[in-house]
Amino acid sequence: MSVIAGISTPNAPGGIAVIRISGDTALETADKVFKSVSGKKAVDMDGYTCAYGHIYDNYDNNQLIDECVLTVFKAPHSYTGENVAEISCHGGLFVTKKILRLILKNGAEPSGAGEFTKRAFINGKLDLTQADAVMDIISAKGDTELKMAENLRNGAVFKKITSVRQELLKMLGDLSAWADYPEEDIPEVNPDVLKLELLNAESELERLIKGYDYGRILKNGINTVIVGRPNVGKSTLFNCLSGFERSIVTDIAGTTRDVIEEYVKIGELVLRLSDTAGIRETSDVIENIGVDIAFKKIDEADLIIAVLDGSCPLSEDDFKILNQLKNKPAIAVINKTDREILINERDVNKYIKNTVFISAKNNDGIENLQSAIEDIFEVSEINFDNGIVSNERQKKCVDTALSLVNEAINALDAGIMLDAVTVLIDEALQSLLELTGEKATEAVVDEVFSRFCVGK
Ligand code: GDP
Repeated sequence: MSVIAGISTPNAPGGIAVIRISGDTALETADKVFKSVSGKKAVDMDGYTCAYGHIYDNYDNNQLIDECVLTVFKAPHSYTGENVAEISCHGGLFVTKKILRLILKNGAEPSGAGEFTKRAFINGKLDLTQADAVMDIISAKGDTELKMAENLRNGAVFKKITSVRQELLKMLGDLSAWADYPEEDIPEVNPDVLKLELLNAESELERLIKGYDYGRILKNGINTVIVGRPNVGKSTLFNCLSGFERSIVTDIAGTTRDVIEEYVKIGELVLRLSDTAGIRETSDVIENIGVDIAFKKIDEADLIIAVLDGSCPLSEDDFKILNQLKNKPAIAVINKTDREILINERDVNKYIKNTVFISAKNNDGIENLQSAIEDIFEVSEINFDNGIVSNERQKKCVDTALSLVNEAINALDAGIMLDAVTVLIDEALQSLLELTGEKATEAVVDEVFSRFCVGK
């Protein structure tokens, strides 16, 4: 393949910058501009070795541009699977760009966004899910996200998809052998056995989709909304979770009039926390807008924390809120345990199963709230090794495969000809091949790599 070159480090001054060159004659290109102190050429160096030397401008009287270290990777043992030379030079923006320009003058083409990784994909170093993972690793904001991306990078999703694919392939093999060679002594395909195999594939695919929901939550944070009537302690809890005074805490009802957002790490989980206006019957127009937003937020939320003032009996407004939360992923937080508690937990449980007692003011009982959240999101059951589908593209492919497998099961139940079932299984298989990139169109591949930065 042609030689491409790009700056792999950020477009900002730094201690060191790395310029990457990849392609069949990448080492020859490097030799045109780099002279090692030892006199050894890049083409004669072993893979995974480096040389100290200098970059000279062969278009301008061999003027010295910078001193640097050259690292050599030999195909196929490199990131792209091709010969690769990496020049580590001083990290000034001007000097780095000058060296890149010189390499381009010497025959390399500028690398496009994600082109090094795209070459790795084309050369079979990684599948499309692993390519997605590269960007996930770069953009990871926390340990869990990084762990998820690393598992994707290590091929956890690829392996899971491969096993489902093999099941589908086996079914297709049985079906077509039977259909194509009726005169041979091939046993008839038993619809009951086929159905069992399809049900197995169905549950594997369902598990992957469930994993996606976890993945989305782990990546973007749990969309959490704190609701409750005014003065129950919503802002105090919000501040207590986010660790600093952010919402306005006052005794005057209706002080938090719109929605404040904050990312909060609680154990392994990240909450995307919104504190909303207190919900109550009011004639104040502005406050009413806030109340409407609060109700809308409830419908969109992954988690609702309903705060109740434990020091007074449940009020009309409390019941109005609790009623909205039936069958929703909600936790009732009975606040102000530093005072006498006048709420009966059982009355709350009629609406919300999970109750936690806290004193937000004294930062007391927050660990119980953490456990309740972890229980709802079944944190202990997340198994990263099973592979977690990480983005919309991957999910769409699994969704399509799943609905085709469902259709195949329904077709079998309805006694529809096995030919039609074969077509559905084949289409499901195609969708999984698109997911891993083994049969992805150019447009899909381009779309994956368009998310990348130049130099990666
Ligand atoms: P919001 O309107 O629901 O956001 O309520 P705030 O957080 O502004 O709190 C209203 C009042 O209740 C403030 O005076 C807080 O100090 C007080 N408060 C909040 N949490 C507690 C608590 O755990 N115990 C007691 N005694 N007071 C609290």
